[in-house]
Amino acid sequence: MAKQIELQTLIDRSIRNMGSGINSIVKESAIEMIKQAYKEGIFVQITSGYRSFAEQNKLYAKGRTASGNIVTNAKGGQSNHNYGLAIDYVLLSADGKKAIWTVNEKWRRVAQIGKALGFSWGGDWMRFKDYPHLEMMGGLTLSQLQAGKRPVLVSFLSNKVSANPIKTKPVNKLLAKGTVKSKAITSKKSYNLPSGILKVTKPLTKGPQVKAVQQALASIYFYPDKGAINNGIDGYYGPKTANAVSRFQMMNGLTPDGIYGPKTKATLSKVIES
Ligand SMILES: [Zn+2]
Repeated sequence: MAKQIELQTLIDRSIRNMGSGINSIVKESAIEMIKQAYKEGIFVQITSGYRSFAEQNKLYAKGRTASGNIVTNAKGGQSNHNYGLAIDYVLLSADGKKAIWTVNEKWRRVAQIGKALGFSWGGDWMRFKDYPHLEMMGGLTLSQLQAGKRPVLVSFLSNKVSANPIKTKPVNKLLAKGTVKSKAITSKKSYNLPSGILKVTKPLTKGPQVKAVQQALASIYFYPDKGAINNGIDGYYGPKTANAVSRFQMMNGLTPDGIYGPKTKATLSKVIES
């Protein structure tokens, strides 16, 4: 059996990925979340934290003016990551070598630990779900951040207060509202979702109807194969696409059978258009 990844390795990698511009309370809470999850045999790594406006603009260009797939709808200044107040996480295999993007019970448990530490979770948003995303806004909205305000965050760990001397709402008034993030979404895309049934067949069903489903799922972060070429959007309804469908179904109260049909179509349209 491969050696289990060390807690310190997860922490070191996460600190590196969060960047130097990360808020100190966000950083310390993220580390505590990693520690608590580790005790439960859940291996979490932070994949992203602070992003400069330039980095955000580069990310925004992907799939638009640069090659690749669209990964964000936020330009520089429009993401809570640009203010060092947000992090993204992923689960790792026990040996730390494989990233696991499936939103399962362990994934939700990490979100729960994060929320107990004062984070809001993107998986709770009504308008669209961002399952890897956790943030601490201290009651401020994105427009307030854009206008130069900074929150005073209170650590749930040690009652430390972050260095920004601007008075704001108490942190316990902080609610996970979708309104902040939704402002960053400017384009509502329609995906021409097919009617009828799609499932894994032999040979595999392929074509634009499959691609439309894959693109729609990817737009709300249910990638067929995140990190693969075009995030696995290839027009083939294979096991990975079925897996993305069943993850979506699981998170939206449907039977997670990996079969795309009228119910999945209806729910998918609703989630994307909302
Ligand atoms: Zn994020």
